[in-house]
Amino acid sequence: MNCNVSECRKTQVNICGQVMRISLRRICKLFLVIVTFILALVLISVTNTERIQTKQIVFTKFVKRSYRRQLSLQKEQQVVDHIKFQRKTNGVNSVADDENLGKDEIVNKNGKIKQNRIQNVKNVMRKTVQSDIFISVKTTKSNRNSRLDLLMETWIPLAKDETYIFTDNDSHIPENFHADHFINTFCADSHYRQGLCCKMAREYDIFMESKKRWFCHVDDDNYVNVPALVGFLQQYNHSDNWYLGRPSISHPMEVLDRANPGQKLAFWFATGGAGFCISRGLADKMVPHAGGGRIQTTGDAIRLPDDCTVGYIINHLLKVPLTKIKEFHSHLEGLHRIPQHQLSDQLTLSYFNSNVIDVKGYSHENDPTRFKTVHCHLYPYLSQCVDMPRW
Ligand code: UDP
Ligand code: MN
Repeated sequence: MNCNVSECRKTQVNICGQVMRISLRRICKLFLVIVTFILALVLISVTNTERIQTKQIVFTKFVKRSYRRQLSLQKEQQVVDHIKFQRKTNGVNSVADDENLGKDEIVNKNGKIKQNRIQNVKNVMRKTVQSDIFISVKTTKSNRNSRLDLLMETWIPLAKDETYIFTDNDSHIPENFHADHFINTFCADSHYRQGLCCKMAREYDIFMESKKRWFCHVDDDNYVNVPALVGFLQQYNHSDNWYLGRPSISHPMEVLDRANPGQKLAFWFATGGAGFCISRGLADKMVPHAGGGRIQTTGDAIRLPDDCTVGYIINHLLKVPLTKIKEFHSHLEGLHRIPQHQLSDQLTLSYFNSNVIDVKGYSHENDPTRFKTVHCHLYPYLSQCVDMPRW
């Protein structure tokens, strides 16, 4: 092809049969415009896809979150319904820590939100811990040195915050003990029904004020295995009706039925000398017969001691059975029969004269009740146990 210099920088293009001559620079420009246009298109589409994807992710997360919240609300509702159903079937209207069950928010005195619905349901469903137990010790002034001091040297310090001591005519608070947990009942200092029921009535009423989950009563000649008691109560639902203890007789207690002259009525009771525990659900149900000092009036009506009166209210009036627990022990049984290696499984122990736990350690002169030795078997690392003869 013949062309001059200026023509040499032009190219022949055949469009629709017509030959057009376009300069190379124009072609380059056109090419650049097309490339830029394509790049812009690609860029726009990529950005849009990312934005759509991000939007999709945010949307999916939102949907998932609302779904999960919906699910958890449904679950909570199921739990709430379940507990309410249990209460209804048990006839219990609890005033315990779960009284606000199902409320969206629990507001404290200052108007601040103290607990929301989720925390509240969690609180009801959470495992029982030591602080949920009210351990009530019945004692009398004359047993102060002979019995109470021994408890103060052994198990009580391990449950100082949970223990409440009910005494008579004694306002001298033991050393290192909470002043408001040492209650002078001003009840009669006698081993007769009136004095004993009067103390039990105070024990029950103060437990009701405490809002704790479990009411456990013991005598001042009981050793309480605190961690075992906590683990034991964890197996039961405090909102249900539980009367846990050990009967001292092999048959139900029989008394004359005052409402039906000539007839007898029979009921089971847990002996106070072995200790017993009552759930909050049941304690609430007992209010009409036990609240506001009525344990004493009920005891007077049937003329029975405190532990029998409690059994009468629970087993006879409320028709709630006694669940017999062999790990509660009184001195009415042969205590030497408990094997040393099973001591950590026992919930309570006792003593009376030579009827004591058979355990090696301190001499009988130094530890006639065997409580100090038992205590050191359970907690050998305590400083007070270093001088115990090893076996
Ligand atoms: N008790 C009491 N006042 C008394 C005598 C005893 O409150 O005048 C208490 C005592 O502190 C113990 C319970 O009643 O917690 C049982 O007393 P004890 O062990 O002496 O007799 P038991 O009934 O076991 O034979
Ligand atoms: Mn006793």
